[in-house]
Amino acid sequence: MIVTDTATHLGAVKPRKAVLAMPEYHPPLAGRTALRLDFNENTFGSSPRVMERLRAVTAEGLSKYPEREPVERIVAKHFGLRAEQVLLTNGVDEAIHLICCAFLEAEDEALIATPSFFMYDVSVQMMSPHLRKVQADATLEFPFERFMAGITERTKLIIVASPNNPTGAVVGREHLLAIAAAAPQAVLMVDEAYYHFDGASVMDDLATVPNLIVARTFSKAYGLANLRIGMLAGNTELLKYVRKVSSPYNVNGAALDCLPVALADEEYVAWYSEQVRVGRERMTDGLRELEVPFFPSHANFVLMNIGPKHKELVQAMRANGVLLRDRSTDPGCDGFVRITIGVEEHVTRGLAALRACLDEIGWTKQEVDESPNQQVGDGVREFE
Ligand code: PMP
Repeated sequence: MIVTDTATHLGAVKPRKAVLAMPEYHPPLAGRTALRLDFNENTFGSSPRVMERLRAVTAEGLSKYPEREPVERIVAKHFGLRAEQVLLTNGVDEAIHLICCAFLEAEDEALIATPSFFMYDVSVQMMSPHLRKVQADATLEFPFERFMAGITERTKLIIVASPNNPTGAVVGREHLLAIAAAAPQAVLMVDEAYYHFDGASVMDDLATVPNLIVARTFSKAYGLANLRIGMLAGNTELLKYVRKVSSPYNVNGAALDCLPVALADEEYVAWYSEQVRVGRERMTDGLRELEVPFFPSHANFVLMNIGPKHKELVQAMRANGVLLRDRSTDPGCDGFVRITIGVEEHVTRGLAALRACLDEIGWTKQEVDESPNQQVGDGVREFE
């Protein structure tokens, strides 16, 4: 039977104005069969112990609704928190969405720095059109003074990623605490998705900062992006509201089964994080040698300034079996391309392909220096 699609008929049903206005996020997911250095994923794969646990999933287990609380207790213990201070979510993506649902009225303002993770735009604008964005200067460092000046009495939600994506920049603890103190009427969500590749955290400040919420993901260092699991940690009162807007079954049972095993395998996470730290050094040494300008990174990726040939490079790399992410349309990122840092072998392959492809497309540093298309500042080079 062929069901007629009514999508072309103009119906009487309209979504909320906010939904009509909000941006859409379509990451380029299709055909990712080459070496994936485009999405900041773990390039190795999860801990083998997690795979073992996954193989023990039973048909009976699949027939049951997932139970989140016992795993939240385990996670809370791991972080030295009370169970009520932890909410497991369907990745940090969902965590961002839930926070916006819980705290943003349509007339409230939210504050973010740009360039940053695009899901902040999407989730905020689903609730409120008043999204203030503070653009970084040409260094792409966090614009702390201007950010502080962006706080108003209507600011109800502030989201800061540290380390940030796609820049790799971190925001110091003192600055984060100053932001929280300057906006006591707002929730400050610090997105620590890339925590393991830097090591600095404000998790310990949850005890003293009532409006702070920390987000962590298990998609990156733990290698579980496909299981969709992340977490929020924060003040019990605040999390009570976030819990209220979340489905009781937001995290699937396989992810809940695996998370305690993943957390317990500390050796694996320490190993993977070290692979990234060492690999990042190798990558930046290689970029210096190739004269490719880049931004210093505290995460599992490096943002490079390729200039006018950014598209050509991404295409050439794809043809050479390596996927990169073109970040040119991010604000202040014209000509910028991001490369994920993974395990040693993948860094080696990534660097070798870069060397070959830059040569193949006839790239020179001069065209970056002369590139008129910088959206911010006057020529971004390497800032260390
Ligand atoms: N925050 C940042 C800063 C990210 O870069 C990403 C993923 N790219 C996420 C959150 C989303 O993570 P998750 O897979 O947990 O939804």
